[in-house]
Amino acid sequence: MSIKKLRVAICGGGVGGLVCAVALSRYLDIQVDVYESAGAFTEIGAGIGVWPRTWKILAALGLTDELSKIAIVPPAEQPQVAFNFRKGDQPEGVNFYTLTTPGGMLAFHRPDFHAVLLRHLSSQCHTYTSKRLVSYAHTLSPQPATKLYFRDGTTAVCDVLIGADGVKSSVRSAVVRELAAVAQAEGRVEDAERVLAAGPPKWSGTVAYRAVIPSDTLRRHAPCHQVLERPMLYLGKDSELTVYPISCGMLVNFAAFRSRYDKENTTFNGDWVQDVSREEFFADFTGWEPEVHSLIQAVQKVNRWAIHTTSPLPSFVSGRVALLGDAAHAMMPYQGAGAGQAIEDGYVLATLLGDSRTTLSTIDRALRAYDAVRRPFAQRVQASSRENGLLYTLNFPSLTFDRPVSRADREDFVRLGEIRSRVETNWQWAWTTTIDGDLNRALRMLDGPTPNRRRS
Ligand SMILES: Cc1cc2nc3c(=O)[nH]c(=O)nc-3n(C[C@H](O)[C@H](O)[C@H](O)COP(=O)(O)OP(=O)(O)OC[C@H]3O[C@@H](n4cnc5c(N)ncnc54)[C@H](O)[C@@H]3O)c2cc1C
Repeated sequence: MSIKKLRVAICGGGVGGLVCAVALSRYLDIQVDVYESAGAFTEIGAGIGVWPRTWKILAALGLTDELSKIAIVPPAEQPQVAFNFRKGDQPEGVNFYTLTTPGGMLAFHRPDFHAVLLRHLSSQCHTYTSKRLVSYAHTLSPQPATKLYFRDGTTAVCDVLIGADGVKSSVRSAVVRELAAVAQAEGRVEDAERVLAAGPPKWSGTVAYRAVIPSDTLRRHAPCHQVLERPMLYLGKDSELTVYPISCGMLVNFAAFRSRYDKENTTFNGDWVQDVSREEFFADFTGWEPEVHSLIQAVQKVNRWAIHTTSPLPSFVSGRVALLGDAAHAMMPYQGAGAGQAIEDGYVLATLLGDSRTTLSTIDRALRAYDAVRRPFAQRVQASSRENGLLYTLNFPSLTFDRPVSRADREDFVRLGEIRSRVETNWQWAWTTTIDGDLNRALRMLDGPTPNRRRS
């Protein structure tokens, strides 16, 4: 057995935590322990879209051969339709934009995607289920370490703790308290208040109705429905539908969003995820086109998700604790990017910790480099995902419509064209850029002096 230079604990076995574990298990000198609160490593039965920027990371981790068996994967550089945009909140819908990108968006059934990640954890990575982290404490003797406390009364010890525990993260709460305490101790009272306020997740004012429809069921309702062949976004006032084929066309992923922007950043009353009947949201689509109604009629089992986001933090790192994924930057789902950003976090963090220049005495430098490259990028994606939501739900100032659009009306098409160009500008990072520049920049920081503690 090789000597371990670091013990890394990952709290949360969602997509971000597992990708980080897969990436870390490439380094034989790192001990990796993944603690998951649920009784099993699972994912909800819904779709997940992956863009070329993320796909290249999955390829670097050796995952794409297996992933290619559970999705239709076109040649990477070949132009593919990522989404057709259609204004659907009128008796006759209007297609107004086909977003074509190199490689398109790759669509997976989440449980299949998760199963591939789990199969790629090496035997040196230890996984634990039914381990809910409740708190942690830093110890100094015999050497600096972090002691983890779980709800079942057990404890564990690590050198680096990674909080990959999702939007309700308990690690985030502790990191926020630590950042605030530092600011307070340095006399920066307003910074301390600001970071404390940014801690808890907030309701976005939006709920998503999520379902998976067997393609044969949809075919019975609408034999030639275009969603059977191509990914669609149906835009309308205060609501939007994202629908695309998954599982090589056997299933259709369905997400219907209803937004109340006046409720943004308020508290959601009720369970964040709940089984509901389709009648609950059918009324939101009164007056929408028949294509949308056939989709809703094909929905059988549906859950309502109250979409929560997190405010930007001044750091994803406190001491030897780092946040990743939704724990760091939960965002609106309008760019299909939350999981992709979690994957980027996990990959960059693992590469920095695994680098031979990172040792027990230089962990801080690696974590600061992680924060320096990942935080600005992920926070930009958070902001642009929110803006896409305003555009999709026709809430973007000056881009609203008070009557059905018509193909013949030039003014309508100018405004729809404005939506198109804003969406594309916001989103193109996902297919025109790679992580390589940021990763190399972060790796170069491992050579430099340890940066001063960031002011929060
Ligand atoms: C409607 C909708 C559609 C979306 N579509 C896409 C898409 O197409 N593409 C995309 O990239 N993203 C998409 N997203 C976003 C994406 O689902 C999330 O950003 C992503 O799942 C976050 O991954 P994560 O690993 O950070 O957190 P999670 O997936 O939430 O995983 C956190 C894990 O931590 C565990 N946990 C929680 N607390 C504790 C604790 N105290 N101790 C131990 N374990 C704990 C949880 O059980 C869970 O397994 C979508 C989101 C929504 C709502």
